Amino acid sequence: MIAIDGSQGEGGGQVLRSALALSLVTGKPFKITNIRARRKRPGLMRQHLTAVRAATEVGQARVTGALLGSRELTFEPENLRPGESQFAVGTAGSASLVLQTVLPALLCASGPSVLRLEGGTHNPWAPPFDFLAKTFLPLINRIGPTVDATLVRPGFYPAGGGEFRVTITPAVRLAPLELLERGRIKRISATAKVAHLPRTIAERELRVIGRKLGLSDRDLVVEEIADSRGPGNIVTIEVECEHVTEVFTGFGERQVAAENVAKKVAEDARRFLSKDVAVGEYLTDQLLMPLGLAGVGAFRTLGLSRHAQTNMEVIKSFLDIRFEIDRDCPPGVVVRASPLPPA
Ligand code: ATP
Repeated sequence: MIAIDGSQGEGGGQVLRSALALSLVTGKPFKITNIRARRKRPGLMRQHLTAVRAATEVGQARVTGALLGSRELTFEPENLRPGESQFAVGTAGSASLVLQTVLPALLCASGPSVLRLEGGTHNPWAPPFDFLAKTFLPLINRIGPTVDATLVRPGFYPAGGGEFRVTITPAVRLAPLELLERGRIKRISATAKVAHLPRTIAERELRVIGRKLGLSDRDLVVEEIADSRGPGNIVTIEVECEHVTEVFTGFGERQVAAENVAKKVAEDARRFLSKDVAVGEYLTDQLLMPLGLAGVGAFRTLGLSRHAQTNMEVIKSFLDIRFEIDRDCPPGVVVRASPLPPA
């Protein structure tokens, strides 16, 4: 059984999610200790528990320690079972992080899957639905599988109650992902969404972003959402390039001025635009998995966060691959995956 130390590196929930995902892919059982040891409230929270339950169902796994607050868990998958599933976080916890856990195995499963995911769809510290739909999944589709995601209803913190559906048609094998150039920038636009909150919040955010990034009115869109369970506000900046679309997201918060939410996300987009790279910080985290599964590939990124470095270590615990980080061919940093030479 593979031993995973949940306190390694960044010591958060990603260590658990990546271990579950790769255990499902490889069929290798694992035991994780010190789950989320470096978080303020360590152990399994509801969102992580939903990820464990989803992985258990998809992998028909034997599991011990799957309880709220648990800091240790063993997971032994028996048989990968694609098909129809419904996973509900039950709070505003992120539904996209549940998808992150089961998707890798379903990309190469023996048949298609249809998933209904309920919970938060636009959470800080998780991939927002728009990022999944416009940035991440198009890249997954480029390497073989066909994955479609449809938002049924947005769910914001703290009310949650969101839902999206995902259909997955797997591929026999994943092709290498090569994303070294972003290509020409085709369009930069921003969308500010408000649910059960004044439209002026969105207008104030867009005014700041328009000014900071030099966007014209036709590239600034306000969306008023009527069908969410609770209030919410997000603002996304979409940088559509020839070979990739990056989505940067700002989350409205009580006690934080709309202008400050907008300034921060404009800064994130500007940092990406300032170097001719293809991949931003969050996409870097998330591309390591498909790169590892394909066994070969490369992308050019702004840099590697501690989160990304931790994720690489977990991936290497399950797969016979190595990651090389090339810092000597600017702009940015190139991450390459290749198979380990036979021992
Ligand atoms: P926790 O221990 O609280 O569960 P974690 O380590 O699981 O934390 P994070 O490190 O915060 O969680 O990251 C979760 C995932 O969400 C990562 O894959 C990260 O790339 C992604 N993510 C976070 N924020 C964004 C964002 N704004 N856009 C896209 N992806 C994001």
